[in-house]
Amino acid sequence: MLYLAIAFFIFALIFFRRSSAQQGEAGLPGGRIIYTDTRSWKTSVTPLYDGILGLTGKPDYLVEQNDGNIIPVEVKSGKAPQTPYDSHIYQLAAYCLLVERKYNKRPPYGIIHYEDKDFAIDYTRDLEMSLLDLLAEMKRDDFKDDVDRSHDQAGRCAKCGYRNICDQSLVYDNS
Ligand code: SF4
Repeated sequence: MLYLAIAFFIFALIFFRRSSAQQGEAGLPGGRIIYTDTRSWKTSVTPLYDGILGLTGKPDYLVEQNDGNIIPVEVKSGKAPQTPYDSHIYQLAAYCLLVERKYNKRPPYGIIHYEDKDFAIDYTRDLEMSLLDLLAEMKRDDFKDDVDRSHDQAGRCAKCGYRNICDQSLVYDNS
């Protein structure tokens, strides 16, 4: 339960606190559309953990391929955007990193599964470096009392579970 709480916390931070602009600068891969057969997917039951980074996460599925590669899959509700959101890509990259640390074999890519489309995201060295930079920055921010909002998207705040306690929210719930 503690692991899940930590995982939620880490990915909530990734979702809500990082700037789209900064992520755009990292030149994240847009992903390629692929066909997947969901019947072969096995639910991932145990959270993956990396003690050095203090990172925990649980992909929705792990797909073991014939060549021994283990591919993490993140399932998102709703229709696919034109290209996956940067926050989704970073979350998947974190799963790729955790899979590599646990199984000692680097996944060549991970999959983001939307309702109507699947994207393969190549787990490149550049993506890994961007992820590590992001995690390092998040750790640094943990010691700050205030962290500036990193976006101007009211819709994002409207869906955010922290909006009632966040002093930088663009949406206030008066109910
Ligand atoms: S309410 Fe808005 S600014 Fe505050 S944490 Fe959530 S998304 Fe970020």
